[in-house]
Amino acid sequence: MPKVIIAGAGLVGALNACFFARKGWEVEVYEFRKDIRQMEHVQGRSINLALSYRGKCALEAVGLKDYIVDQGVEMHSRLIHDIDGKTMHRQPYGQPGEHIVSINRRHLNEVMITEAEKHPQVTFFFEHKVIKADVNKGKLTVQHNDTYVDVVGDLILACDGAYSAVRRSLMATPLFDFSQEYIAHGYVELNILPQNNEYAFEPNVFHLWPRGDFTLIALANRDKTFTVTIFAPYETFEKEMYDSESVVAFFKRMFPDAFAFLGAEHIEETFNRIKPLPLVSIKCSPHAFNGKVILMGDAAHAMVPFYGQGMNCGFEDCLVLSDTLDEYNDDIETAITTYSTNRVRDAHVINDLAMYNYNELKDLVNKTSYKMRKKLDLW
Ligand code: FAD
Repeated sequence: MPKVIIAGAGLVGALNACFFARKGWEVEVYEFRKDIRQMEHVQGRSINLALSYRGKCALEAVGLKDYIVDQGVEMHSRLIHDIDGKTMHRQPYGQPGEHIVSINRRHLNEVMITEAEKHPQVTFFFEHKVIKADVNKGKLTVQHNDTYVDVVGDLILACDGAYSAVRRSLMATPLFDFSQEYIAHGYVELNILPQNNEYAFEPNVFHLWPRGDFTLIALANRDKTFTVTIFAPYETFEKEMYDSESVVAFFKRMFPDAFAFLGAEHIEETFNRIKPLPLVSIKCSPHAFNGKVILMGDAAHAMVPFYGQGMNCGFEDCLVLSDTLDEYNDDIETAITTYSTNRVRDAHVINDLAMYNYNELKDLVNKTSYKMRKKLDLW
């Protein structure tokens, strides 16, 4: 059986390991972090994520969809909170019954690693950092403590995230197009605790406080908490949320109903502990190199989170690659070249839609569309 080497055991790396395990390939996964299943606290982005149809289809193909979805919280619509702290507007996501699901990132990642490991030919190497890739030889150089080793495989999947070490090794490849854009916004995550052992807000919706140039969102977790995220321009963080007093006043003024549950102490403590994190959008082409290496997930197409599709699109990468390999009877070179041709186009489109939805979520959701205003004769 062929051997696949996977850089990164995050969401996309772990799901790829499940796909290739089921194909019977030999699978080696090299992950920089410790095994998250053994860790008390895992640092990183977005505690929970919105899983949509695209991601569910990929999980279904490895038999994990029902289990994962059962562990999440369904979200059937957006609930827009006005600045008066009282009025709310509901915007359904689709037809009755259609919904997205709020999922805990860590749990999802752990389930996929454990699922892949059930197959004896799969090995995860934690605390192994990928340093560089040699595309011609299909080789990765990996560091463990003070030791460097070269690992080779028939196929290398770079699932090592937006700042991919594998992609860095490819930068000088002729005809490799690459672009990245940091948006003006950063984000900070907070938490709303249960109130009298119940959810503080309605759980089965995506809560949104759009305020023009900045926005607050909240997604429910199974333990009756909410993960709350503020997205704002760095300039706004600097000018309006520069110390304990100003940040508390800002939340109280802009998000009065959320403030009532977040509490001044928690807001102060969070902003004293963490700085806003940046958001980057990355496009590149091609995604496949020399019939041996593929960039996948954020390594290929990191996107701003406003369309809730980064992980979902990365999951779809895994499904599309698996199907393409099946279609070409595991002729790796043909399959990954075809994959890249099709996937680059799709990834660019989703990246653009995510950037568009950046404007939608912070502002446009509150505005009547041009067509509607004309119809209502409001111009
Ligand atoms: P990552 O999750 O970044 O995983 C990369 C892995 O590689 C990590 O485990 C890392 O430790 C490892 N690694 C990195 N470098 C090395 C190295 N040199 N050697 C070995 N290992 C390495 N997407 C959605 O679909 N829905 C959402 O609701 C959503 N919300 C989001 C909210 C926020 C605030 C943000 C920032 C993102 C959100 N996303 C969402 C996007 C989603 O988080 C990413 O698209 C997804 O995590 C990509 O998975 P990945 O496996 O490609 O990369």
